[in-house]
Formats: sequence, structure tokens, C-alpha cells
Amino acid sequence: MSTYVDLAVSPVVNASGIYTDFGGSVLSPTVRQAVDEANSSWASMTELLPAAGRVIADLLGVEAAHVVPGVAASLALCVGACMTGANGEWMEQLPDTAAIPRANVVMQRAHRYKYARCALVSGARLREVGDDSTTTKAELRAALGPDVACVLHPVHLDGTNGGIPLAEVVELAHEAGVPVVVDAAYLSYPTELIASFATTGADLVCFSAKYFFGPNAGGFVYGRADLVDALAAIDFTRFESGDHLLFGRVFKMDRSTVVATTVALREWLAMDHEARWAAYGRRAERMIADLAVLPAKVQAGHFTLDERVLTEPVNAVVIRPDGEIAPSAASLDSRLAEGNPSIRGIVVDDVLVIVLETVLESEDVLVVERLLEAFGTVAR
Ligand SMILES: *Cc1c(COP(=O)(O)O)cnc(C)c1O
Repeated sequence: MSTYVDLAVSPVVNASGIYTDFGGSVLSPTVRQAVDEANSSWASMTELLPAAGRVIADLLGVEAAHVVPGVAASLALCVGACMTGANGEWMEQLPDTAAIPRANVVMQRAHRYKYARCALVSGARLREVGDDSTTTKAELRAALGPDVACVLHPVHLDGTNGGIPLAEVVELAHEAGVPVVVDAAYLSYPTELIASFATTGADLVCFSAKYFFGPNAGGFVYGRADLVDALAAIDFTRFESGDHLLFGRVFKMDRSTVVATTVALREWLAMDHEARWAAYGRRAERMIADLAVLPAKVQAGHFTLDERVLTEPVNAVVIRPDGEIAPSAASLDSRLAEGNPSIRGIVVDDVLVIVLETVLESEDVLVVERLLEAFGTVAR
């Protein structure tokens, strides 16, 4: 920890799960070794990127793929690729879209989400259809005019809010000759899910490496070869050496990010996930036993990537303090956060969730100690 000490930065025990603000995920020893190797030798990025893309496409059995610096950047690159295709002059104009015929991104209003903002960095304009709870097929069809670059579909929202699901969106969009870009950032488990969006006919599908133990600033896009090629053509490479000055230059990656994303995905696909869940389960049981003395209901649970508390498969310890005699979940959480190291859990309604997926096993004892202390020392 001497680097953090030198920087006067307090280390964090991340009991919240995968969040960019805590630096995403932790790399496995295999991925770290790949990072070291990438760092110890030069390679041409213009050879490395297509090679990594080929490996990812083959691993998943999809047409083409490309490594990107995360999903947020990939949304801008995907929409850019849909606007320009292979047209180099248009590529160079982005994010100025005045002369580009297809410069609108269509989204269902019920799909409003924060990352839509990132897609618009490309210069595209947002055209929302429907209302907060529904979009009709007629409304979507009417919005898909000749000025539309793509439909952006955050697929984790399917089935949650009355919007039109991906398969039907693809059908309508393709009738109008419009590609569909899918944000599937965290839908990398179960692993079969990853390639399943290709079968719906989606044209570009984006995944974040932070959700499969890859680098925080890594990810990949797979899909239709011509669009993946267009995306590759507007990425950060060839800015000095190529024909066009491209806005994708701002989304730069290290060799190690490209390598780490690829190796982490390969490891994730081959991983024994049942054993991974079982290990969280065992750690949760141990913690629950150690916390039995607390005036609280302490149970194993599952904290979802869309921030809900369920039961299975276990990846968390869920602490419901006894309202009569114990401090509230929120005050316990602040107490843990204020300590050194800062322990950052998550409060959902009146429970405190300790997400074990991001707590290192070696930190479990400390978390238990600090919880016992917090219950004793926080004023009601
Ligand atoms: C994390 C996330 C993103 C952004 O991904 P990065 O790889 O961090 O840029 C986009 N969409 C969703 C749904 C996410 O969870």
C-alpha cells in the first residue's frame, strides 16, 4: 500500500460491488501477468486491436469484435460508426453533424438512462419516442426516418418498464434500414447471455470489462463486421499517421488494457462460476456466524447489478439492524466509511449490504471487526 500512502490516499475496502468510482474491479493474477507482459514489450496498436477483436469474436462465436475503453466511450464510437459508415470525410467531421444525413439516435423514452449522454458525445442528437411508461410500435416506426443513425437500446431495461423489447426493436429498425446499438454493459453472466444478443440481430453490442474482472477502462463491442470496421476506423489509432483527424482519439487505450480485456474475457468464459458463488456463500456464512451477537437480523443475500437485494445466488451479507436498540443502517454505513481503511457498503432501504464480490477474502475479518465496533460505538 506504499503508493497510496505516498499519495496520502486512504485505501478503501470496497463492499459495494463494481463501481467506477472505486476503480471498477480487481484483476486476477493471470490478467495481471498479461498486463506485465504487454508492458514489457511494444506492439503496434493497429495490429493488436484487430487481433484482440478476432480472438474475442471467436471466443463468442460472433461476426466481429473490437476492444474499447469501456461502454460509455463505446456508445459514442458506436453511434459515430452508424453515422459515418466507411465515409472518411464524415468521420473527420464528427462531432459536427451538420453535413451528415443520419445524425439522430432514437431511444424509447422509457429507456431514459444516464449513459445516453455519452452516446451524444459523437455529435448525434437524441430523438425520444413514446412516454415514460410505454412506446407503441407505431410510434417507433414513425420515428425511424432517413435521418436516423441508429436505435440505442439499454437491454438491461427490457421487461422493467413497458418498453418494446430488443427483438421487436431490431425487427422494426431493420425494416427501416436502421441499425440497433445495444448497451449490455453488465449482462456478461450467465456467460451464454453475452453472445445471445447477436441472435436477436442486434448490430452492435457493448460490454464493460469492469463486470468480468477486466480493467475499469476496458470493454468490447461485437456485431456486424462493416459497423465494427467503421468503429475501428474512428477509434484512437492512426491520428498522427492516418488520413483523418478523428474524435475517437480522445478515447485512448494502453496496450495493457487491450490485452487485459481479452484475457479477462477468456478467463471469465472458462471460469467455474458455481465455485465462485459457492465461495461467496461460505464467506457469508462465516461472517454471519461471527456477527450473531449483533442486535440485527444478519442474512446471506444477493445484491444485483441493478442494485436490488434478493436471496440467491449469495454474493453478500445483508444486515437489518433491530430498530429498537441498534443504530440505523445509514449510520452504521457512515461509521464504516469514516474509519481507516474506509469500508464502503451499500444502504438499500433500511438494510446495510456488504457485497463480498469486491471485498478481498483477506479483508473479511476486518469487516467483521469493524461492524462489531460500529454497532457498539454509533449513537442512536
Ligand atoms: C458501467 C455501465 C456503463 C459504462 O460502462 P464503462 O465501461 O464503465 O464505461 C454503461 N452502461 C451500464 C448499464 C453500466 O452499468
